[in-house]
Amino acid sequence: MTPDQIAELDRADPLASFRDRFDLPDGVIYLDGNSLGALPKATAARVQSVVREQWGTDLIRSWNSHDWIGAPRRLGDKIARLIGAGAGEVICADSTSINVFKALSACLQLAPERSTILSETGNFPTDAYMMEGLSKLTDGHVQQKLVASDAIADHLDDNVAALLLTHTHYKTGRLHDMSALTAAAHEAGIPVIWDLSHSAGAMPVDLNACGADFAVGCGYKYLNGGPGAPAFLFAAKRHHDKVFPALSGWLGHKAPFAFSDHYEAGHGIDRFQCGTPGILGMAALEVGLDLMLHADMQAIRSKSQALGDLFIERVEARCPQFELVSPRDCTGRGSQVSIAHKEGYAIMQALIDRGVIGDFRAPDILRFGFTPLYTRFRDAADAVDILADIMAQDSWTAPQYAVRGAVT
Ligand SMILES: *Cc1c(COP(=O)(O)O)cnc(C)c1O
Repeated sequence: MTPDQIAELDRADPLASFRDRFDLPDGVIYLDGNSLGALPKATAARVQSVVREQWGTDLIRSWNSHDWIGAPRRLGDKIARLIGAGAGEVICADSTSINVFKALSACLQLAPERSTILSETGNFPTDAYMMEGLSKLTDGHVQQKLVASDAIADHLDDNVAALLLTHTHYKTGRLHDMSALTAAAHEAGIPVIWDLSHSAGAMPVDLNACGADFAVGCGYKYLNGGPGAPAFLFAAKRHHDKVFPALSGWLGHKAPFAFSDHYEAGHGIDRFQCGTPGILGMAALEVGLDLMLHADMQAIRSKSQALGDLFIERVEARCPQFELVSPRDCTGRGSQVSIAHKEGYAIMQALIDRGVIGDFRAPDILRFGFTPLYTRFRDAADAVDILADIMAQDSWTAPQYAVRGAVT
């Protein structure tokens, strides 16, 4: 693609105006919004106002006067609009890992005679680890089973209590067919939990159209909620009343301020709350959500696919040393492109030094996330040109690029 063609894509981009609503450092091409979304310009002032005018001035009265207590539900309803859920079906709370635990334990209650929890090998570690924890907690009564992703359909038997899958694979960007897999699991009476960490805010998701049972996801990735932002949990309305939450914290009680000795599950999705919400994190996340709710999700998806296609085409033309790990067909790919090289770690460090921020996933994957609200076509093209330059000059071989930080 010529520079003029790329400039034309940026000129014609219906989402172009959103970039100006983010604070992006000069000289940086940020391709890691799938790991930590960029900072919306309005966030700092909002958090400052919650700190000074709410916490600092209204103090504890703010739980009512600024509706702090309603934040998990209010933000949950906003997230619901992004993932095809209804009002009152999503709660914004805790971390994704904790919400995975809540959803798994809820499924075990829906089918107490079943004891296998099924997922795929190579899933994001926390999903598998949470399954292991539940297995230990039940002294091995609950069994975790991990099978290859193309063998899932063969393991949907009548001992499976839950199928836990990540919609967009964190390493490869491969998409599961949410609708088909949910239907196949339901045929065998199995509820499905979708981990939407790399899907929410990146593409249209329609949980209710697919008949999904539960879903979880992150606030700090495509939703731009800030580091460690609260996560979310979706539970289909039909299941609410059947679940006695395993994490039966006081804020999920039907009358938390009755302070009674015994737990009675709260109304609807409220029972999936556990403890006091982190209001500063909620304030930051709400800015990211409000911003995203102004964008057309189909436009986000189309641009994300076009960005990924452009990136792949250019890598293949200019950097033949890399192997494409993500699906080439953009309809089967999330909003990231992963390429492999055995020196991937050092190459990524050299890229970051040149202002192109992606990330590295062991053992050999360089991962580039495309966030259509603030990534331009010229950013995707320039990133590849810088990568090609690093490879041509062998500059990644400098010793400092071999030093590993705690977070890759
Ligand atoms: C990022 C990610 C998580 C993160 O879980 P936390 O509890 O927020 O650390 C979970 N699942 C998947 C698939 C992810 O990509």
